[in-house]
Amino acid sequence: MTGLEPYEVYALRYATMQKRSSRDSFMFDEHETNWPIDYFVFAVVGKKRTWVVDTGFDKPMAEKRGRTFLECPGDLLKRLGIAHDRVEDVILTHLHYDHCGNHPLFPKARFHLQDKEMEFATGRCMCHKVMRIAFEVEDVTNMVRRVFDGRVAFHQGEEELAPGISVHHMPGHTMGIQCVRVWTRRGWLVLAADVAHFYRNMEEAKPFPIVWNVPEMLESHKRLYKLASDPACVIPGHDPEVLKRYPAAKPGLDGIAVRLDADPIG
Ligand SMILES: [Zn+2]
Repeated sequence: MTGLEPYEVYALRYATMQKRSSRDSFMFDEHETNWPIDYFVFAVVGKKRTWVVDTGFDKPMAEKRGRTFLECPGDLLKRLGIAHDRVEDVILTHLHYDHCGNHPLFPKARFHLQDKEMEFATGRCMCHKVMRIAFEVEDVTNMVRRVFDGRVAFHQGEEELAPGISVHHMPGHTMGIQCVRVWTRRGWLVLAADVAHFYRNMEEAKPFPIVWNVPEMLESHKRLYKLASDPACVIPGHDPEVLKRYPAAKPGLDGIAVRLDADPIG
């Protein structure tokens, strides 16, 4: 036993895309490419503190990028009883556009980020179009502004943020991506975010095509499992299966938000 207070953990789907192009099919068979992809933000709720993991994008960004916007992440959090404008801690797994927009929704938040992710998003890698394809310059410059506002907590490697919640550098998809490990009633749960987009990425060691370093990504897949109490306790970042495998967060939120610290369905 750890003696830790378990957190509640929720996944909230704010956007989706039903058809994916073949450029998303790196190392997958051609006939496997038409997978839907879901976009989530996550909430980690303790007795004293609430953590939001990733902040998603807004409706104009969905239109710009051809995604189907379902509901504002701030409104989704409110439906769970979380006042987004009072949240004090936001963990950004990385700085891709689908994970770090919507800054105005979190005016009181401190943003937790890996040193290496800021280096990646503001340094020489961004000279290459293929490396910056999933970044938006406004998101990155907003994060630089947050640094100058004194509202960014930088982390290097593995750090405990509070008892029962820690971040872990998991390079591969980007240079500085991090996952979040949380103590729950299921044991150690790992929010992989885009360390592994789909269950199949980690189960079959097939990298997602947007990648900074393939071998590092494959190693990070393995490290996700080591951090979790059980392989089923690793939650990928974009898999529509997540909404199917867990019960609704509360009545009325079927197909919208699920509770990840509950036992999987079936
Ligand atoms: Zn993503």
